[in-house]
Amino acid sequence: MRVISVLGSTGSIGTQALEVIREHKEEFRIDAIAAHSNVDLLEAQVREFRPKITAVAETAKYKELKSRVGGLTYVAAGQEGVVEAATCESCDTVVSAIVGIAGLIPTYNAIIKGKNIALANKETLVTAGRIIMGEVKRNNVKMLPVDSEHSAIFQCLANSKHNEISKIILTASGGPFRTKTLKELENVTVQDALKHPNWSMGKKITIDSATLMNKGLEVIEARWLFDIMPESIEVCIHPQSIIHSAVEFADGAIIAQLGLPDMKIPIQYALTYPERLSTSGERLSLTSIGKLTFYKPDTEKFKCLKLAIKALKMGDSACVVLNGANEEAVKLFLSGKISFLDIGNLIEKTLDKHKTVKNINIDEVSALDKWSRETFISLSEVGCCK
Ligand code: NAD
Ligand code: MG
Repeated sequence: MRVISVLGSTGSIGTQALEVIREHKEEFRIDAIAAHSNVDLLEAQVREFRPKITAVAETAKYKELKSRVGGLTYVAAGQEGVVEAATCESCDTVVSAIVGIAGLIPTYNAIIKGKNIALANKETLVTAGRIIMGEVKRNNVKMLPVDSEHSAIFQCLANSKHNEISKIILTASGGPFRTKTLKELENVTVQDALKHPNWSMGKKITIDSATLMNKGLEVIEARWLFDIMPESIEVCIHPQSIIHSAVEFADGAIIAQLGLPDMKIPIQYALTYPERLSTSGERLSLTSIGKLTFYKPDTEKFKCLKLAIKALKMGDSACVVLNGANEEAVKLFLSGKISFLDIGNLIEKTLDKHKTVKNINIDEVSALDKWSRETFISLSEVGCCK
């Protein structure tokens, strides 16, 4: 039996991870959960799964949660509380599904304590990929991707040798604005951006999918997970989201992984690897799909993808800055304070102000993140853009 801690248990990935676990009760036990502030859902999860530790990041919610479930579980609060859930003694695997850089410190601590990671929180690798993968090696833990593209690549690679890989083909749906012109993008609304054609996800990643920043973050994630240089990662728009990604090998053979868009498949594989268990979801029928299409991304229209690749080439500190600026950009866009195109324009200006720093440690990541957010906010206040 695997003993699991679910960080971000109330979110899109977190609740789907719990569904997977519910379907295979004999395989898993949940000893820790953590989330930001949704006390109602945390209470229901405590009553169903009876974790030993339940953490709520928002300290103002501690008393309420404690009064509701204090007799059933140990209640912890704040970032330290989330770290307690991430490092829960009896857990062997941590589902890292907090959104944003808030997932970094809990995931880092879990690795240091020898936990295997089922990684959804791509921002962990975007902001600290070198540090995290170094700790994964040092602590001899497994880093198993949940992100559908990275799960696909992981499956395509199987046990092949690193020098046999010639490139990674990272597929992208293109998001809701794939066919819009740059001019049309000037007037898109938050509601338009939240309508993803193929996936139902949390708000932040849905906006990232509309700007293609999500694909940029995934290029950085792939660089660290698979130790692949950016030049060997090709982004390919594939609107049907059936091929989740592919790998081209030295002999020209391309191996791809296919399936209907359903996050429960990569979540489950990360939790059961190297075994595969059954799933109850609908199956892909190639003949009913009929046709799959592919083309190159337009990085003039979607400059966030270009900026992410630029940050990756600039160095580790630039990726922290890119991520911090993007998190602020998404917040401001969702609250109606900046336009859709401002997102890329303001991130670009923030990156322009950054001087790269080599060999950053985990504390410097936090300091750079703070600098980036402050710089982004002051740039957005000046007004801008274009
Ligand atoms: P979401 O917004 O639905 O859920 C986020 C979760 O994180 C919630 O449980 C929330 O309470 C928790 N959280 C937020 N701030 C926190 C904090 N400071 N401390 C503790 N918990 C906190 O997001 P999501 O769509 O589930 O995405 C989670 C992560 O998975 C993101 O990094 C995203 O990029 C990645 N991911 C998501 C999908 C998807 O299909 N949703 C696919 C691939 C990757
Ligand atoms: Mg993805």
